[in-house]
Amino acid sequence: TIRIDKVNKRFGQLDVLSDIDFTIEKGEFAAIVGPSGCGKSTVLRMIAGLETPSGGQVLANGEPIRKPDPQRVLIFQEHALYPWRTVEDNVGFGLELAGVPPKERRYRVDEVLEKVGLSGFQKYFPAQLSGGMKQRASIARALVMNPEVLLLDEPYGALDAITRLTMQNELIKLWRGTGKTVLLITHDIDEAVYLADTIYVMSPRPGRIIKKLQTDMPRPRNRNSA
Ligand code: ATP
Ligand code: MG
Repeated sequence: TIRIDKVNKRFGQLDVLSDIDFTIEKGEFAAIVGPSGCGKSTVLRMIAGLETPSGGQVLANGEPIRKPDPQRVLIFQEHALYPWRTVEDNVGFGLELAGVPPKERRYRVDEVLEKVGLSGFQKYFPAQLSGGMKQRASIARALVMNPEVLLLDEPYGALDAITRLTMQNELIKLWRGTGKTVLLITHDIDEAVYLADTIYVMSPRPGRIIKKLQTDMPRPRNRNSA
């Protein structure tokens, strides 16, 4: 459970977030939508432990979040792959740090690359990939760690419609029945409605939640899976 408890955030003189208050239950898929600059990424960065609130508390399972945790993985708006590492080594980096042996590492990396449609690109360097492929590689890098909480900051922005749909459905498959908690930021309201149980709408200056929507529309995860 992620709890955002009456959170304010100020950067210098700028009030960025005001009285943000919501809870995401374990296994819930939530989305945040809102105009550019309303503070969406800042909320996500606080949950990821990369930013601290100026007031209020950000809690994971009742404990204040103080630093990044591999169980809560943030996929950035600007995908940041290491340019000097191949796709395989970028995606496997976290596993390497965690001491996973090379053979298992390769197996898990190949498996997740297949999911994001990058089979066969193991030996490519980021500079040799398209923008959307880089984005998919950074999604793979997060997924391979099998995190409890997945924080996605506009992960599908640079993808074409078909790839986007494929990735959205992969995300649903990945999330359904696994008890994973997902928080997605998107500018695409259709995407939010399609994917999320709960949608928070934010307004800017300072960023506030002005609406909470519960969606109840039939989505692939509600159909019998093949
Ligand atoms: P977008 O949809 O364009 O990604 P956003 O909703 O994610 O926007 P944030 O990135 O959270 O917006 O930024 C919200 C506000 O906070 C902006 O006005 C931004 O200039 C400011 N801001 C964010 N990070 C910092 C920082 N480290 N220092 C100073 N100001 C910051
Ligand atoms: Mg942002």
